[in-house]
Amino acid sequence: MDNKMTLSFISKSSNEGFARAAVAAFATQLDPTLEDLADIKTAVSEAVTNAIVHGYGHPNGIITVSCVLSGKSITITVHDEGRGILNVQQAMQPLFTQSEDTERSGMGFTVMEAFMDSITVDSTIGQGTIVTLTKKINNDIMAP
Ligand code: ATP
Ligand code: MG
Repeated sequence: MDNKMTLSFISKSSNEGFARAAVAAFATQLDPTLEDLADIKTAVSEAVTNAIVHGYGHPNGIITVSCVLSGKSITITVHDEGRGILNVQQAMQPLFTQSEDTERSGMGFTVMEAFMDSITVDSTIGQGTIVTLTKKINNDIMAP
């Protein structure tokens, strides 16, 4: 491990932008391309939104985001102690949503999978969810 940071904040939707910007600021140490940075921001945004909306659904929960930098890789964990997911495999299917809100399309996990190199979801009903996202930064083309 070369560097690590951890953030904790309450489950208010206004904190989604804060988490996304903070992770992006930390990730700049790896000298990512703008595209890689945009991918990381999108994935963090999806994971944190899920923790806020589905994990808690109220603003009194705590969400913890950690980032570990190791070589050219970044590992981000988004942890909530909310309601948990009954069937993770099913929840990760494209278009699967348990939300009745028409704004939710059930594509959050699919987007995280597309924009990061790997995603693992560890969840227990009534105890919460940990989403782990990793990405290797490929900035070789920038080398002299
Ligand atoms: P979208 O992300 O497109 O707005 P969505 O949030 O419903 O829609 P996903 O992000 O793919 O879609 O999540 C799928 C489902 O997994 C959610 O509808 C919810 O039931 C469940 N889920 C995801 N994250 C959590 C979480 N942190 N805690 C509890 N349930 C979750
Ligand atoms: Mg979602």
